[in-house]
Amino acid sequence: MSCALGNIQAKKRLFISLLIVSLIALSVIFFGIWKISYLGLQSIHEFLPAAFGAVLLVIVLLQGWGIFSVVAGVKGWKIPQLFYRQTYWLLNMLFYVVLGAGRVLRIDRRRIEASFVAVSNAVIRNCHLKVTADRLLVLTPHCLQLASCPHKITRDPNNCKRCGGCDVGALVTMAEEMGFHFFVLTGGTLARQTVKKIRPQAIVAIACERDLTSGIQDVYPIPSVGVMNIRPNGPCYNTHVDLAEFREAIEAIIDKDTIGKKTDNKE
Ligand code: SF4
Repeated sequence: MSCALGNIQAKKRLFISLLIVSLIALSVIFFGIWKISYLGLQSIHEFLPAAFGAVLLVIVLLQGWGIFSVVAGVKGWKIPQLFYRQTYWLLNMLFYVVLGAGRVLRIDRRRIEASFVAVSNAVIRNCHLKVTADRLLVLTPHCLQLASCPHKITRDPNNCKRCGGCDVGALVTMAEEMGFHFFVLTGGTLARQTVKKIRPQAIVAIACERDLTSGIQDVYPIPSVGVMNIRPNGPCYNTHVDLAEFREAIEAIIDKDTIGKKTDNKE
């Protein structure tokens, strides 16, 4: 347990470290540009170097604020509720900055994506968001189903016979008991259609780091918690999920008073 916790902390540290590295790099580059252009700008107008410098400084400060917001969101520091939505937005925007920094430093994209998911989960968790059971959508890829299983669960997961051959049966049972929507999907298009149809207030998705990262950004601004799948047989084949970790993610976001009940909450 403490090993898993340490692993998650390390994952989050990578994203935040890359954010800080990118801020330092941006500051140095901007200072260089400002220095080089100083004389040219001054020859046009004496105030231009200061004005140009102010614009560059504002960009650096905005990124600095973004990093501070993300760190505050991850650490659970008390910041006004108003800023939580903005933090989630900044996190999604800054992902591309981090990806760029990671490319320069030759850091594996998968590690960065896993780190992004860990940071995003922490930010959502620290928002203390609660949604009713029937406005929570759980999505998982088709590879979680045992490859030799003959039952068509992508049309209706209730076709699963809960034989214990894969983790789908346990998820169907959990969905039935708790009342959240549960779908097994074959791709991104179906995921988008399902989100449009269900109109959830939050999503919990089980997938690999790549699909979780693109999924979180696809469904933005709907908050989406990612649970990494387990791939003992390689990618996209007979995958698993840590059911205890999944239940913990659900319990952190679901309004306990609505478990197993239908509400008329459509907002
Ligand atoms: S648990 Fe359901 S989906 Fe998995 S192998 Fe059994 S019947 Fe198929």
